[in-house]
Amino acid sequence: MSEFEEYDFRKIEKKWTDVFAGGKTPNKGKGEKFYLLEMFPYPSGALHMGHMRNYSIGDTYKRFLEMKGYDVIYPMGYDSFGLPAENAAIKSGVPPGKWTLANIDSMIQQQKRMGLSYQWDRLVKTCSDDYIKWTQWFFLKFMEKGIAYRKESAINWCPDCGTVLANEQVISGKCWRCESDVESKKLKQWFFRITDYADELLSDIDGLEWPEKVKAQQKNWIGKSRGVEIDFPLESGGKVTVFTTRPDTLWGATFMALSPDHPVVEKISFAVKDEIENLKKQKTLQSDDEKEKIGVLLPVKAVNPVTGKKIPVFAANFVLMEYGTGAIMCVPAHDKRDFAFAKKYGIPVQAVISPPDIVLDGESMTEAYTERGMLQNSGNFSGMDSEEAKEKISAYLEAEGKAKGVVRWHLRDWLVSRQRYWGCPIPVIYCEKCGAVPVPESELPVLLPDDAEFTGKGNPLEKSLSFLKTKCPKCGSPARRETDTLDTFVDSSWYFLRYLDSKNAKKPFDGELARKYMPVDQYIGGIEHATMHLIYARFFTKVLRDLGLFDFSEPFKRLLCQGMVLKDGSKMSKSKGNTVSVDEMLNEYGADAGRLFILFASPPERDLEWSDEGVRGCSRFLKKLWRLGVAARHGASATTDEALSARHGGCNISAAESGQKTSLPEDLKKDLEFITAKTVAAVEKDFNRFQFNTAISSIQELINFTQKLFAGYGNFDLFGETVKTAVRLVYPFAPFISSELAEILNIKLDSFPACSREAIEGRDREIIIQINGRMRAKLIFPADVAESEVMKTACENEKVVKFIEGSEIKKHIYIKGKLLNIVTGGKK
Ligand SMILES: [Zn+2]
Ligand SMILES: [Zn+2]
Repeated sequence: MSEFEEYDFRKIEKKWTDVFAGGKTPNKGKGEKFYLLEMFPYPSGALHMGHMRNYSIGDTYKRFLEMKGYDVIYPMGYDSFGLPAENAAIKSGVPPGKWTLANIDSMIQQQKRMGLSYQWDRLVKTCSDDYIKWTQWFFLKFMEKGIAYRKESAINWCPDCGTVLANEQVISGKCWRCESDVESKKLKQWFFRITDYADELLSDIDGLEWPEKVKAQQKNWIGKSRGVEIDFPLESGGKVTVFTTRPDTLWGATFMALSPDHPVVEKISFAVKDEIENLKKQKTLQSDDEKEKIGVLLPVKAVNPVTGKKIPVFAANFVLMEYGTGAIMCVPAHDKRDFAFAKKYGIPVQAVISPPDIVLDGESMTEAYTERGMLQNSGNFSGMDSEEAKEKISAYLEAEGKAKGVVRWHLRDWLVSRQRYWGCPIPVIYCEKCGAVPVPESELPVLLPDDAEFTGKGNPLEKSLSFLKTKCPKCGSPARRETDTLDTFVDSSWYFLRYLDSKNAKKPFDGELARKYMPVDQYIGGIEHATMHLIYARFFTKVLRDLGLFDFSEPFKRLLCQGMVLKDGSKMSKSKGNTVSVDEMLNEYGADAGRLFILFASPPERDLEWSDEGVRGCSRFLKKLWRLGVAARHGASATTDEALSARHGGCNISAAESGQKTSLPEDLKKDLEFITAKTVAAVEKDFNRFQFNTAISSIQELINFTQKLFAGYGNFDLFGETVKTAVRLVYPFAPFISSELAEILNIKLDSFPACSREAIEGRDREIIIQINGRMRAKLIFPADVAESEVMKTACENEKVVKFIEGSEIKKHIYIKGKLLNIVTGGKK
């Protein structure tokens, strides 16, 4: 490319795309390891701006790390099982595998266009045969260890489609396809015993360099709570045990609620059998605040163990057998849900905690009082602070033999069964004689059949005879394969390990490589994965450690959650019609301008508002850089016609000033060196704290300053070094233009510019501080220090303070870089 051509990003990108995609970045460091990971995408077919933001942050950081000499691992892959592919098959008849692989291909093309320098030889697709094999191998190991087990559990069932629905396929209680009422049904399914690791998952959170918000969400999800199990006798004999974290409200418990599946309900509900069956269908699968709370009054009464009062017992749709004891005591005066329920069913409200200086009357309350307060109507505990009462009442009940202290977790075992085709088959065979038999390791992988039909009714695997029919590995009798496939979160729980050794046919990954490169030093992805993915991957890592595959316990050391990309103030989404297509953006402005804008417009963890004008601004900056770079090529020969034309065309200098090779005054030369050095230092510092936006603005200032000087003095012997430094600084952000300019300027991009301490320190200035005209101190400041900074530092200096203490500062006089005179009034 001729240096005097205008900046043409299309040509430049075409030339460098393959170079980057081939893993040819200037410095593949041999230094310290650094594992840089971005959350891998679901192959929907096209990347969106959220992806582009995630990957621009990653690739920019990766190029910086390589310039600093790190041995960087920077892989990409596709989380390629999941529901959308199966839905597409139902809709259009294209097999899920074909659909998925075509999508992956087009997304890889987009990623290459963005200049992302992934190590493509590490590519992982979770639907590939080798990946399936090792995911299944882990499942078998989990079975051996008792981590994978089978039990009955409720699912969403559409009776018309004859199919199990995921939670997201249930819309307002109806099937998303046929709008039939969804039922809750019990099915034997596979689980991972993640609760065995609850304590460790919780206590290790504090050691992670993750955003506090994510850590808090994980702690909540794991949800360790201390409470008591209290026995409530039944009037008819026997007892019901409830779990509560609020023993301080026990005197206010005026009714009890049981899960419709509670054994007591099954025993006594014959009189209300139909209503209970109906209630079971209305159960809330998860704690759902929106869903109406419904109860069925049972023909039995319980006795409050401290008041001795008989209280009504309901079966209720908001109590789950899976959580706690399947029974709760209800205190309407101090719980919002209980209050609403009590009003609906006419149950008495008894206040037992009051705010300071007020005594609440339960029957006249209009809402529950849920804050801390003072106990009332609570026997010997009246008058006690409610927090203190929790401990005291628990101890009292335990001593009386009415309760015991327990620790509860919100975390449930991980349900990994999905009744769907497009996932990793669970490697288990059912034999009438031997029961559930694991598929022998030598027969892995169990692959999906090609003859499945996608009708939208039921799991296609259940009708595929080629898949279904097999022999029992133990006794050789005819047997049937498991038709459940694994939750895709299982696939994404170990992909970062496969990246390290993606072609290994003998093992999922090499232990030595894992020991060398794990944990991931920097993980980048969306906050929406704060709980599920990020907890499952942590759990998986701990299990693999206990299987002896390595000895670390946490997969991701540092985590950065990038903000959303907004347009017109709200998140880009197809339904809102406010999306910007990645392809259109790349066509119009190019990858460099797009990347630069995304990184410049906002710090990574904050939301980013899309602006076409912003992208255009970045594009103008790149043009400016291009012209300076092209002009700098000619250095000392800047008086040649060609170089002059570059100066005119590129740098807006007046014709009158041109043609003269003026030497730069010594003072300005020092300024240029100083500003260059300072920019290098600032950009490096910003990289280390992910402040890409301020790094870019420092580089822009440097370019603007250089351009102004060049317009006045026009000698590239002097500016060339600065322009070369600027090109090296811009490279991680905008790799295409920088690589081309580096070639033109004959410079290397294999290291980050060194910061000249001499240039920075050489520009420090000694400023004289006077009080009322008399010198009291000499203080050192950087050359570009602001007046306000000199004033502030002076007023805090101990030599100065003693002269101004207790006096009023009337005014100050500042002579830039030389002197500050503070004028005070008399002592107050
Ligand atoms: Zn349906
Ligand atoms: Zn058998």
